[in-house]
Amino acid sequence: MRAASFLFVAISVMIPGSVRSLKLPSRSYPYNPPKWCNDVLKGAPSHGRLRLANLYTPLYQLPLHSPLFKLMRELDISFFIKRDDCSSGVELGGNKVRKLEFLLADALAKGYDSVITIGGEQSNHCRATAAAARMVGLEPHLILRSQRADEDLGTIGNLLMDRMVGSSIYTCTPGEYGRFGSNELIARVARHLESMGKKPYCIPVGGSNGLGTWGYINGVDELLQQWDELNADEGQGDDEQHSLDHVVFACGSGGTATGIALGLALAHADGSRGAAPKVHAVGVCDDPDYFYSFVSTIAGEMGIALPAPYGLTIEEYVRQKMIVHQGKGLGYARSTPEELAFVQSFARETGIVLDPVYSGKALYNLFSLVEKDPETFRGQTILFWHTGGALGLYDKTDDLADTSTSSPCERLDVYGKGQGLDISKDL
Ligand SMILES: *Cc1c(COP(=O)(O)O)cnc(C)c1O
Repeated sequence: MRAASFLFVAISVMIPGSVRSLKLPSRSYPYNPPKWCNDVLKGAPSHGRLRLANLYTPLYQLPLHSPLFKLMRELDISFFIKRDDCSSGVELGGNKVRKLEFLLADALAKGYDSVITIGGEQSNHCRATAAAARMVGLEPHLILRSQRADEDLGTIGNLLMDRMVGSSIYTCTPGEYGRFGSNELIARVARHLESMGKKPYCIPVGGSNGLGTWGYINGVDELLQQWDELNADEGQGDDEQHSLDHVVFACGSGGTATGIALGLALAHADGSRGAAPKVHAVGVCDDPDYFYSFVSTIAGEMGIALPAPYGLTIEEYVRQKMIVHQGKGLGYARSTPEELAFVQSFARETGIVLDPVYSGKALYNLFSLVEKDPETFRGQTILFWHTGGALGLYDKTDDLADTSTSSPCERLDVYGKGQGLDISKDL
């Protein structure tokens, strides 16, 4: 018995993520940070991690034979995708579940009975938090920002999931949100719930604080293991070895960007893996300067301690390790016809559905970058990290219908009445 359980522990330490069955979703597992971050990130989570996500998420190369990829093909670019949109089922899917594994482990360890978080009315983060909270026995409370704050928000897209899991929803206008700030609104709702005898755990916008961001340190560790495995694949010739040159993804509240940028920088710091890939975060709501500063704040919360030889402030270090691109276009959750047409073409040519608010804008911007500056990308390997968000498409069905001209719908004429596609005679 002892020997068997020792073996089990040894194996699960050797292969992170190898626990494939769960006693309870609320069960916490010890978390050992990857070795490469120990010297620099001092704030490792002390309450372990839940296993809410389906990890490892798929990683594969896309064939570039369709017209959309003509330029990439000519430039001899290799294009990979990491499918964090497949990190779980529909309730939890997307990048937020990686953060929630740490955040909710903390909430449970400290005896909270409910969760409050905040976001836009189609927030993927709020939907994932609400569902995860229910899975582990916590009560979900969501503050949603909407132009329609005075109305009932209805049940489109993420809201349907929010409501199916029985979230308590509180609304505010974008103006109120801007004036008070998200943390103050959360704090006030928390005081209200406390006055009713509840013990609410507060999660900031997007789950992007120091603790949640460990989810993407863990994500980088996962990616690098997959990358090594891919290159070690039997039967691959040397010409099929790929160095990872660019990593691209959407940036909204900054946690994903912090985890990916710090993770990739630290994992490559000793040079044994070669140079770190260039990290491209595409901002979909704020300006790049805001993100450089906020990413530095999160890094501070993770206990970053740069060794003296760097001689840099945290923000200078962050600016060296990532590029934030301006990708918000018309503004947060607002799409141009070109962006939506791109999401359509990408779906048609790859079978992969992006979302309009995050992943669609991020990849649309990558394609523009390659067009503007082809020589930077010639012969390079690009990885796109798909962060999920498909439920956001339901908020844009009318606009998408305008651009979906390539999916015909025909009436079958099974009786030969002369209208529609005649299949009345068996040919
Ligand atoms: C929240 C979100 C992002 C952005 O991640 P942050 O960590 O908030 O920057 C990207 N894609 C999708 C689908 C999201 O829901």
